[in-house]
Amino acid sequence: MPQPSPASAATPFYVPSLITRIVDGRVAAEGSGHQLPIVNPADESALTVLVEDDAAAVDEAVRSARAAFDTGPWPRLPLATKRRIMGQVRDTILAHAEELAYLDCLDTGIPLWDIRGRKMSRIADNFQFAMDIANTLSGETYQQNEQYLSLVTHSPVGVAAILAPWNSPMSLASMQIAPCIAFGNTCVIKPSEFTPLSVFRLVQLMHEAGLPPGVVNLVNGRGTVTGAALASHPGIDLVKFTGGTATGKRIMAAASGGLKKVGLELGGKSANIILEDANFDAALTGALLSIFSNNGQQCLAGSRILVQRPIADRFIAAFVERVKQIKVGDPLAPDTEIGPMAFREHYERVLSYVDIAREDGAQILVGGTRAPGFDKGYYFLPTAVLAPDNQARVCRDEIFAPFATFLIFDTEEEAITIANDSDFGLVGYVWTQDVTKAMGISQRINAGTILINTSMVREVRAPFGGFKQSGIGRDGLRGTVEFFTEPRTTTIPLGPVTMRPIGTGQAPS
Ligand code: NAD
Repeated sequence: MPQPSPASAATPFYVPSLITRIVDGRVAAEGSGHQLPIVNPADESALTVLVEDDAAAVDEAVRSARAAFDTGPWPRLPLATKRRIMGQVRDTILAHAEELAYLDCLDTGIPLWDIRGRKMSRIADNFQFAMDIANTLSGETYQQNEQYLSLVTHSPVGVAAILAPWNSPMSLASMQIAPCIAFGNTCVIKPSEFTPLSVFRLVQLMHEAGLPPGVVNLVNGRGTVTGAALASHPGIDLVKFTGGTATGKRIMAAASGGLKKVGLELGGKSANIILEDANFDAALTGALLSIFSNNGQQCLAGSRILVQRPIADRFIAAFVERVKQIKVGDPLAPDTEIGPMAFREHYERVLSYVDIAREDGAQILVGGTRAPGFDKGYYFLPTAVLAPDNQARVCRDEIFAPFATFLIFDTEEEAITIANDSDFGLVGYVWTQDVTKAMGISQRINAGTILINTSMVREVRAPFGGFKQSGIGRDGLRGTVEFFTEPRTTTIPLGPVTMRPIGTGQAPS
């Protein structure tokens, strides 16, 4: 694999000066594709240039994945060999963790300490974890009557298109690539056109670790050009999309022509219900973490904070005080808690929600402006607003930013109604010291994951996905088996079988 070239002497790791596709294990030459500048959100400097892949380039990548699946060794390798290679991928990622974390930070503006400390080990472990599932995957047998035995075995599905978002590029790409290939499929991944750097390097490293060519191919470009060509390509058997709900609908339409298997991990507007008997300090820290982690750009954010009236004033005041102390700054700095928004269009959209909040009668409690002290960069002050009711757009729309919206409720019944009055259903949070109450409420919130008395925790084996417009399908142990394998039922008689003598002139008995 060619090595990336240095972009700046000031950076501790090489930054490729050009991002192109990786097909058959080879980084493509520059070519004539449309070029998109990739910008560092911390200072708006040019990081690199992305060469967009058009339909012909996408076709080349799909053909490579197709050949690797149809005739290549990967789907047919003994599990032990695949396991060894996946182990090498994991080790290589860990050996390059500093470099990968740095590239991800440059591209996204997520604090480096967070990527390095919280995400890198998970990204590497995704490959081990997926292989563990594949390794222990067993079939089933059925015996409806004594004459027949039916066996269910699992086969890989084929070639997957994996479309990934920008808010956590490597985590979310690896979470899908790993199970996809562990079960013997091959894929073409398209990272977000805003954050291609770390996934580009990740795919390079996977090949350096020994992954055979063609198993994981990478294309780059805008969703409407490269993504659309990939999702609708006839050589693709399944599409796994992580991103916005509106895009998910387009992907489903594009994939419907070939009746491709589609998995959608979409947006959220999750309710964080804080009851009057909650552990106040824990709920406060939990509420702050649920909305402000990952620069507030996370699908499972607790972005609608519902507080019960008797504690509402005290809780909101304490929340606002803590928000004022949050350190906004350079994502490379070790004390930064919130970095810049990932790219200009997103930053401008987030700012526009401050006006939208005011128009809808919401009160700005804290923040609501560009963070002071920065000449450049997409820095937005962590913000909290108090909404007049759940119909305000700050309660309906996923803002995907450090932007918390408060609502005050009186009864549990009202809190549940508000929580469920949403197009989304990804996560629900409940804070109370009454376990019975917590369980009762949790079972009535229409969301794929409920977290009681904690901020975000992801049990990777449990199903993760959304009710309603938050998605279709689930990640996790069973979910990945269901999505990335096809069950095959094989039935065989266990002795001589009596069959109706069709076409012999004898009457059926
Ligand atoms: P997005 O929908 O804009 O883009 C996601 C990916 O799809 C990108 O690679 C993009 O280029 C591509 N794409 C865009 N239009 C396309 C089209 N017409 N055809 C094919 N591909 C297309 O999402 P985003 O802004 O990158 O990410 C933010 C969203 O992702 C938020 O809504 C967030 O909640 C969601 N998300 C969900 C999860 C989850 O697990 N549920 C995880 C992370 C992010």
